[in-house]
Amino acid sequence: MIITIKENASERAIKALEDYVQSKNLMLEIAQGNNMRIAIVIGDTSLLDDNAIRSFDCVSDLKRLTHPYKLVSRDYQKEDTVIDVCGIKIGQHEKIVMIGGPCSIESEETAIEIAQGVKEAGGTIFRGGAYKARTSPYSFQGLREKGLEDLAKVKKVVKMPIVSEILSVEQLDEFVKNVDIIQVGARNMQNYELLKALGKIDKPILLKRGYAATIEELLMAAEYILVGGNKKVILCERGIRTFAKATRNTLDISAVPYIKKVSHLPVIVDPSHGTGKRDLVEPMTLAAIAAGADGVMIEVHNNPQFAWSDGAQCVNFAEYNKIVEKASIFKIKDGNITNYGRKKNYGTTKTL
Ligand code: PEP
Ligand code: MN
Repeated sequence: MIITIKENASERAIKALEDYVQSKNLMLEIAQGNNMRIAIVIGDTSLLDDNAIRSFDCVSDLKRLTHPYKLVSRDYQKEDTVIDVCGIKIGQHEKIVMIGGPCSIESEETAIEIAQGVKEAGGTIFRGGAYKARTSPYSFQGLREKGLEDLAKVKKVVKMPIVSEILSVEQLDEFVKNVDIIQVGARNMQNYELLKALGKIDKPILLKRGYAATIEELLMAAEYILVGGNKKVILCERGIRTFAKATRNTLDISAVPYIKKVSHLPVIVDPSHGTGKRDLVEPMTLAAIAAGADGVMIEVHNNPQFAWSDGAQCVNFAEYNKIVEKASIFKIKDGNITNYGRKKNYGTTKTL
């Protein structure tokens, strides 16, 4: 970190800054130029708060030379993190993971039917919301506890690992018991108490990017989970809010290669919420894979027109089949295309 010192700063004010930096076990070196002084902070500056530094009287400005995140960064860990979910590996060295299922769980019967359709198409992880974070309090809020029970039944009958979204810390125990991946939705990406609680458990976390969050904010949110001790974090690009109105969100495909460059964590893409439009799910799935994503999460329904939520972006079984077929052909790994042929082979679940 480089700090520009104010022209008229007193030695006492600079000493106060130096004492503060040293109290964080870092070193401060002052360099005198022709008409300005700068201070260089040496050491692990991820422990420093920019605003705390700015609050010192002698500080005019500061510039970070490294990222504010640490454990999630590639500087900290060179090799990709690969996360094992019941035998399915999610990470750069493995095949694309296809996650599919309805937006909301509607009943045990439909959940099982959809899971069977997803599995037959080649999807390997089943998604479904039990607790729903809806914009309107009048919209369907999810089957809640019953939804989680239905998901547990799906796992038993269809033998697929389950991902579902948690909304609050109080729900942690039931999620640990019933799901294989705990999803943190866009609206909760910066719920830091929730992130801290998830850092203390040993379960994969699917962390979705907030719709107004920068990539740095997403990575800082992931840092909360890693610093607590849970290293199993999968990041998800699901579109951000822009001025563009043609789609529900603007899917930031460039986030995939960017995150891959700066972080070792697996990255998946959600083209369903990313576009809000069924017919755009296939092309954006292929774009995500071309950009280097490790997996794709797609909303699938046996009868999308009657889905209890997000029907316009749900694909039916035939459409999902086609998407999985195309998505299974290749994966971009370290900038190279690995061709898998036309086989639907995503690895088998070991521990169900
Ligand atoms: C979801 O995946 O069901 C969901 C609500 O997504 P998001 O949090 O990205 O809006
Ligand atoms: Mn949805």
